[in-house]
Amino acid sequence: MAGFSPFYFIDPRFLLIVGPAFVLAMIAQAKVKSAYAKASRIRGSSGLSGAETAQRILDIYGIRNVRIEPARTFLGDHYDSRAKVLRLSPEVYQGRSLAAEGIAAHEVGHAIQDASNYSALVLRNGLVPMASIGSNLSIWLVIGGLVLSYLQMAIGQPIAAIGLGMFGLFVVFQLINLPVEFNASSRARAILVGQGIITEQENQTVGHVLNAAAMTYVAATLTAVATLLYYALLVFGGGRRS
Ligand SMILES: [Zn+2]
Repeated sequence: MAGFSPFYFIDPRFLLIVGPAFVLAMIAQAKVKSAYAKASRIRGSSGLSGAETAQRILDIYGIRNVRIEPARTFLGDHYDSRAKVLRLSPEVYQGRSLAAEGIAAHEVGHAIQDASNYSALVLRNGLVPMASIGSNLSIWLVIGGLVLSYLQMAIGQPIAAIGLGMFGLFVVFQLINLPVEFNASSRARAILVGQGIITEQENQTVGHVLNAAAMTYVAATLTAVATLLYYALLVFGGGRRS
């Protein structure tokens, strides 16, 4: 173990378990950026902006209690089911492109899920409070617990186990989120084509953007699952014994 290596402080098991998922996440991020950039340069045949697309779909579905607002952040588009607000980033809100139409329709897809009490969305929303605490605090509990264990303190193992359980809830949240995201995108594309807002050919371009976005969710979920496995390995088995 002589000599200095930048990898000395990095557990090779971490690279082995979490590395592939992390690389996939980087690839997915790059793909969504390029698909978005390409589609944002193509004006749709309907000439609608993202906000107009969203409003038209809401009208068709008779959803009158959802407002559409511009969001401040780039790609910060989301549907807030509590406030019943659809927030669209400036590029999507004002943009007249296939990217803007596709992303706006995807977010309306969530509003339709909400209006129809789509079960996976209801379940996901129920887990939001736990998941938001879980993701940050849990890893610190795991690491803190492992350090205490290393210092031969009996309390370390239960603390690490609690952290691991909390992180497990976060992983469950991410897993339930996947069908919610896939469903919103498939609804969006079916509505856009069905209502004649986009053509079959334009649907291909919209598909590239929404599929790439879905891949980022899949990659993030795989990263979370791999991280959970790695820390479970440290806490329950094969951990460093001093
Ligand atoms: Zn979504």
